[in-house]
Amino acid sequence: MPMDIRLGDVVRLRKQHPCGGYEWEVVRLGADIGIKCQTCGRRLLLPRRKFEKSVKKLVR
Ligand SMILES: [Zn+2]
Repeated sequence: MPMDIRLGDVVRLRKQHPCGGYEWEVVRLGADIGIKCQTCGRRLLLPRRKFEKSVKKLVR
């Protein structure tokens, strides 16, 4: 079931970023999901399927 994700949502991932952060903001939607680390500001692009598997929970 596809996840209902919107721009500006903050998600908590299962895996910790090397900077120590867990929370990411959704900055791009499409076949790939763009997320930005809330701790260090680094951006990542993940295929939607991988993104959905990586998300632990939706923070807002
Ligand atoms: Zn980070």
